[in-house]
Amino acid sequence: MKPDAPLFEPDEFGLTEHERALTTRARELAQSTFTARAATFDREARFPTENYADLHRAGLLAICVPREHGGEGASFRAYMLSAAEIGRYCGATALTWNMHVCSTLWTGPLTDDLGLDPDTRAQHDVRRRLHYERIVQRGAVYSQSFSEGNAAASGSAAFSTTARKVDGGWIVNGTKIFASLSGNAHYYGILCTEMTDAHTVSRRQTAYLAVPADADGVQVTGSWDPLGMRGTVSRNLEFRDVFVPEHEALMPAGHYYQAVTRWPHMFMTLTPTYIGIAQAAYDFTVRYLRGEWPGAPLARRSAAVKQLNVADMRIRLEQTKALWFRAITDARVDPSRDQVQRAYCAQFSAMENANELCQLAIRTCGGQSMLKSLPLERLYRDSRCGSLMLPWSADLCLERLGRDTLYLPGESDS
Ligand SMILES: Cc1cc2nc3c(=O)[nH]c(=O)nc-3n(C[C@H](O)[C@H](O)[C@H](O)COP(=O)(O)OP(=O)(O)OC[C@H]3O[C@@H](n4cnc5c(N)ncnc54)[C@H](O)[C@@H]3O)c2cc1C
Repeated sequence: MKPDAPLFEPDEFGLTEHERALTTRARELAQSTFTARAATFDREARFPTENYADLHRAGLLAICVPREHGGEGASFRAYMLSAAEIGRYCGATALTWNMHVCSTLWTGPLTDDLGLDPDTRAQHDVRRRLHYERIVQRGAVYSQSFSEGNAAASGSAAFSTTARKVDGGWIVNGTKIFASLSGNAHYYGILCTEMTDAHTVSRRQTAYLAVPADADGVQVTGSWDPLGMRGTVSRNLEFRDVFVPEHEALMPAGHYYQAVTRWPHMFMTLTPTYIGIAQAAYDFTVRYLRGEWPGAPLARRSAAVKQLNVADMRIRLEQTKALWFRAITDARVDPSRDQVQRAYCAQFSAMENANELCQLAIRTCGGQSMLKSLPLERLYRDSRCGSLMLPWSADLCLERLGRDTLYLPGESDS
């Protein structure tokens, strides 16, 4: 198999040596191994366990674990670029890998950027060492559940899942929906509200805890037979009086809320999967029309309308990638108002345009291209899921972008 060209050619996009090395490793692994397995995970709606063993062997489970803890020490951008490479070959692997990697990215470089006081830092270092060790040494996999089917996942209300402080830890109660990796992760990273004696609850009380999958009171419920991203196995997680020891705190108290407000690009980590899918749909179309795709009909590139459609696809792909690359380069603590608005634009474009490119690819290639023996119909179904992902769903990006453009902070019409 001819190796694919990089999604972002390192010299042309000015990637660092580290970014070049990590994206190459991710692409080579995914193209050589994940591509061939993707159809099975999709058909059977089965978690890509085999891919996770490979990610561990390649050191990629620990991509954002700091170097001093045995990981690759990837920056936000290096991770995003690597995840996009994996998304080209297996969307479900890239999307679930994102949930896992966030448990290290948020506890690592993001928390470091928040400027902890020395005591909090020392305690956080002890706790995160434990999580990193599990990942680096034993290949432990973490999920990330915040959705509850209410306003919490969109960031408009406190989480209904609660953590009540007891001696040595917390008692957790609640239900999460759409918990990717359910039944397959070793630890469920959950966002919940730490209860105090006060009568009011607020998003400032959000705690980020790792619940061991085999803890008493944890149950995976509900079935899983969705349109796309079938390998994510995103069933429900129920927590009934689950004791979670103190050392399972993934972030110091109050710091998740700080991260949300000061490091907003953290929610862009769902996009690289869809940038990868957009590229895959385009690459497929070019090969198919050139008659190079195995089992494809003879070349059908001579029709002018197909040439125009390919040109249209290329323009949309370049627009989407350019904006996305700018936004992931902008990502930092305390970004400017413009940088945040650009991030909403990039998120919306990545999610919506991935699906747009897939549907254009099917229309351009024609009826025979949508058979189950080819990857395009899977890309199309997977791509439809991107816009639904909270808290930066496509609708919420539009809403926030419009409001924040027309109203300065603190402004109102009254
Ligand atoms: C394949 C796949 C994998 C997923 N994996 C995960 C995962 O691992 N972890 C996880 O936490 N979630 C995951 N999700 C869930 C996802 O992030 C969303 O939470 C989910 O799609 C929301 O579905 P909903 O039907 O509740 O829809 P929605 O209607 O979009 O939203 C739910 C609630 O959010 C509130 N809301 C929505 N829009 C607004 C608005 N504009 N203003 C105010 N409130 C609003 C409303 O209260 C609404 O009831 C996954 C989803 C998919 C499709």
